[in-house]
Amino acid sequence: MKRTINIETSKHLGEKVKVYGWVDRIRSHGKLIFFDIRDRSGLVQVVFDSKLNPEVFRLAKEIRPEWVVEVKGEVKKRPQGMENEKIETGNIEIQAEFLRILSRAKTLPFPVNTSGYEIKEEIRLKYRYLDLRRKRLIKNLKKRAEVVRFMRDFLQKRGFIEVETPILTKSTPEGARDFLVPSRLYPKKFYALPQSPQQYKQLLMVSGIERYFQIARCLRDEDPRADRQPEHTQLDIEMSFVEREDVLELIEKLIVNLVKEMFPEKKITETPFPRIEYKKAIERYQSDKPDLRKNKSDPNELAFCFIVDFPMFEWAKKEKRWKANHHPFTQPNFSSFEKEGKTPDECLREMKVHPEKILSYQYDLVLNGEEIGGGSKRNINTEVLLAVFEVLGHKREEIKRNFWYYFEAFSYGVPPHAGIALGIDRLLALFLNEPSIREVIAFPKTGDARDLMMGTPTSVSEEQLKELHIQIREKNGN
Ligand code: ASP
Repeated sequence: MKRTINIETSKHLGEKVKVYGWVDRIRSHGKLIFFDIRDRSGLVQVVFDSKLNPEVFRLAKEIRPEWVVEVKGEVKKRPQGMENEKIETGNIEIQAEFLRILSRAKTLPFPVNTSGYEIKEEIRLKYRYLDLRRKRLIKNLKKRAEVVRFMRDFLQKRGFIEVETPILTKSTPEGARDFLVPSRLYPKKFYALPQSPQQYKQLLMVSGIERYFQIARCLRDEDPRADRQPEHTQLDIEMSFVEREDVLELIEKLIVNLVKEMFPEKKITETPFPRIEYKKAIERYQSDKPDLRKNKSDPNELAFCFIVDFPMFEWAKKEKRWKANHHPFTQPNFSSFEKEGKTPDECLREMKVHPEKILSYQYDLVLNGEEIGGGSKRNINTEVLLAVFEVLGHKREEIKRNFWYYFEAFSYGVPPHAGIALGIDRLLALFLNEPSIREVIAFPKTGDARDLMMGTPTSVSEEQLKELHIQIREKNGN
């Protein structure tokens, strides 16, 4: 007999079925025992009757919650008044004729048939594989997969090519801190894990791919923050021969269609999404992530806006130097200087003297007061790029040495291009009204970057270190 998944059982009224799953709730009423059996599709009720099948009943009495079982029996209509509207198969039950224990289970560290919000997160993360048995989390993972599939379909239909870029890549200056991977084959050399596929996607534009996307993992060794992960997933996009508005329109269409199809209960406050200049946003809302919801207590309101015309640079107080507001590959906007009749050389000089005056072609996508994406039109003029790096405090030679492949690539015919990346974790958390991105990630780390389930980070053996040509120095310098 073939297996029937729980949700399908109600289609087999009067027939015999076989189901598999975990024993959820057990109710014992003397001569009758009821189980809810849970599988990936949901719950179905099984009833054991001591009179009909005394042997099976005896075995059923031994069963404890979360044991894994196989049950065969006839699908019957539940007696009138005994229906349960809360579960999809609430009109039927399976009259058990056969029961097999597939595996036993210890008592779980917490219940898995509640929302889970009431349980301490540390313990949930330690036993994440059990936490994921929860209906809410299964629903979140399913939704996540559907959203990603929607994004893929949407972009593929529009001629975008999904390209995988390397995970072992190169450490370069600027950006966040890199996670480093020591090389065994090349002593004293390191790979870096990608903070984003930024340079690769731009190099793909040099290759002529024209329309690229990737569901990309981005790894950044930043200081811990409650709702930050050392790795997060982006929908990463790059396009050639486009202007800013082309990218914004594409993203807006993607989001509007996604909401319509996948979150029909949600209402978007305003379309087209308002495009707000950075300066105006700061003046009007004292924030470059304004929350434009009309009613902040409405969980189904989605207020999007694009913030545009960011300053190219920001002053990093701690380090006492200029940093790129987005990243150095963003095109500075010299249009106001050009209107004044300044030559390209004069624009560059002005940028070096007054970095604070320079705007850029950066844009951010904001949803309900949170940044969920960002991108820019890229700088394809390598002289301007060198000048940007100089403002950031780097020497020309050092930059050419670090990014030589990039400068070399751009000397072989580079199309104008622009791109964007959307944070999939945050987008989903907002769409699903989850309080944290950890609720939409299968195996998240804590706010301070630990995996409580596997206990990472861990130390490694002397042998492994030796192979990697690494010696651990204790704090006292030995
Ligand atoms: N790579 C950028 C980021 O991760 C996005 C972009 O400029 O496309 O923020």
